[in-house]
Amino acid sequence: MNEYLFNPPAVQSLAVRGESQRFPINRLFFVGRNYQAHAKEMGSGTIDKTKARPFYFTKAPQTLTPSGVTVAYPPGTANFHYEMELVVAIGQAGFRIAAADAHAYIYGYAAGLDMTRRDLQLVAREQGRPWDLGKDVEQSAVCTDIVPMPGRVLDAGAIHLAVNGEVKQQADLSDLIWDIREIIEDLSQFYHLQAGDLIYTGTPEGVGPVLPGDIITGAVEGVAELSLTIGPAE
Ligand code: MN
Repeated sequence: MNEYLFNPPAVQSLAVRGESQRFPINRLFFVGRNYQAHAKEMGSGTIDKTKARPFYFTKAPQTLTPSGVTVAYPPGTANFHYEMELVVAIGQAGFRIAAADAHAYIYGYAAGLDMTRRDLQLVAREQGRPWDLGKDVEQSAVCTDIVPMPGRVLDAGAIHLAVNGEVKQQADLSDLIWDIREIIEDLSQFYHLQAGDLIYTGTPEGVGPVLPGDIITGAVEGVAELSLTIGPAE
């Protein structure tokens, strides 16, 4: 007799470059605003690191979507945005990690998209409501294969995105307000990080809408290239 009434949800996972075994996913964390120019374009002004702290939202692991596929234009929005991001893959459990030790928890990296219903996110922000309808969108956490770089901290490298070949986002990882070490330190004050957690580290400036038929391409130099095609609305 089966223990469950129906089949439990499948474990989400990503391929690992150069490995036959896959990287099983635990949680998906997202840093809210982590590039000055993007904070400015979102109306937040300049972030003063000495006074502000990073903030986070999460998406369900079921939103994870591999690079290279076509996703439907999602319901409930007329302003579906791309956000190109570096993704950190956590390889071992840790809690209250010091920035100086953060490298030891890194398994590798990937390139990702934090696809967003911007209209619903902004309404939620204005009304003091949760961001879930804007951010926790089905098929919205796009991610390439994981590239193993155990113990390595990426502190520079180009990050860029184009829509139908036209460059929309172009920045460098050195522009991050809170770098990889600081994010791992801060996030691990609130969560017991686990192997299989992914951290999307925030998007640079130049976010904007896509429409059915658009093709998104992007890359984090030295990590991976991604693509996503926007299909018709369901
Ligand atoms: Mn984002």
